[in-house]
Amino acid sequence: MRGGVLRVVLLTLGEEYLPKAWSLHGFDRSEKITEPVPGVLIETGDGFVLLDTGFNPALIRDPALYRRFHGLVSGVEARLPQWPGDPLEEELLRAGIGLEAISQVAVSHLHNDHAGGLRHFAGGTPVYVQERELRYGLDNFPEAEENGIFRVDFDDPKLNFVLLKGHLSDVPEEIAPGVFALPTFGHTPGHQSFIVRFDESVGGGGLVFAFDAADLRENFTEEWPVGGVIGCQPEETLEHIRRLRRLAEEEGLVLIPGHDPHVWPKLAGELDRAGGTLPVGYTTEQLFSG
Ligand SMILES: [Zn+2]
Repeated sequence: MRGGVLRVVLLTLGEEYLPKAWSLHGFDRSEKITEPVPGVLIETGDGFVLLDTGFNPALIRDPALYRRFHGLVSGVEARLPQWPGDPLEEELLRAGIGLEAISQVAVSHLHNDHAGGLRHFAGGTPVYVQERELRYGLDNFPEAEENGIFRVDFDDPKLNFVLLKGHLSDVPEEIAPGVFALPTFGHTPGHQSFIVRFDESVGGGGLVFAFDAADLRENFTEEWPVGGVIGCQPEETLEHIRRLRRLAEEEGLVLIPGHDPHVWPKLAGELDRAGGTLPVGYTTEQLFSG
């Protein structure tokens, strides 16, 4: 046992304007929603861990590149924050650290809104990804790209990938003190979620970051299947949604959907107010309310 997590800071790395049916399978196609693009900074006794990296801003700011890449992903509009800099760098600075302070990166999956910042870490920082996700992204051109997985974001020999060989039946694998990867394949072929356990010295408890295994509160509260999937049926995503919810209930952890426009800013505020942890006894119901 290497201890747990000392502090969590949520990063908001942009927005997406997209059909709500992308997140909730079968929802009215004409209804659109604005969802935040998530990143998570985690401080452990061993250093800083980053979960997910947001967009590659060059592919949004350059009109031709935007058409070339985002034009393939029908109906999803990618938006950066208003300021001119790099969103990941700016958000980390707001949290008080520079990119160079990150000692370890893990990505839930390789969609462009999660893997677009990997280029910052070429040159040594270990990047944890499920092996089947990287294989899918590298070996299925152009299908992967048409599914929002842009090889330009991660096809770099200088990226130091640590390939996780997870199976759906596995117990969560500890990749850093208090940070565990849990395979939730379906939204993409090698998608993974993360469990973050706070150290007892900061009150214990923890968080389940579903990422795109459950975009919105409704995926959990109404057992609503995820709409965007690769290589499986939307209904199959319910297996992971139920597993994550059960895990959170059994262990008293707080459930975090990946792109919920109410939950994400609310949790960011709660964590900031409590110095990077949550008040003892804080529940998923409290987080989802309002
Ligand atoms: Zn995704």
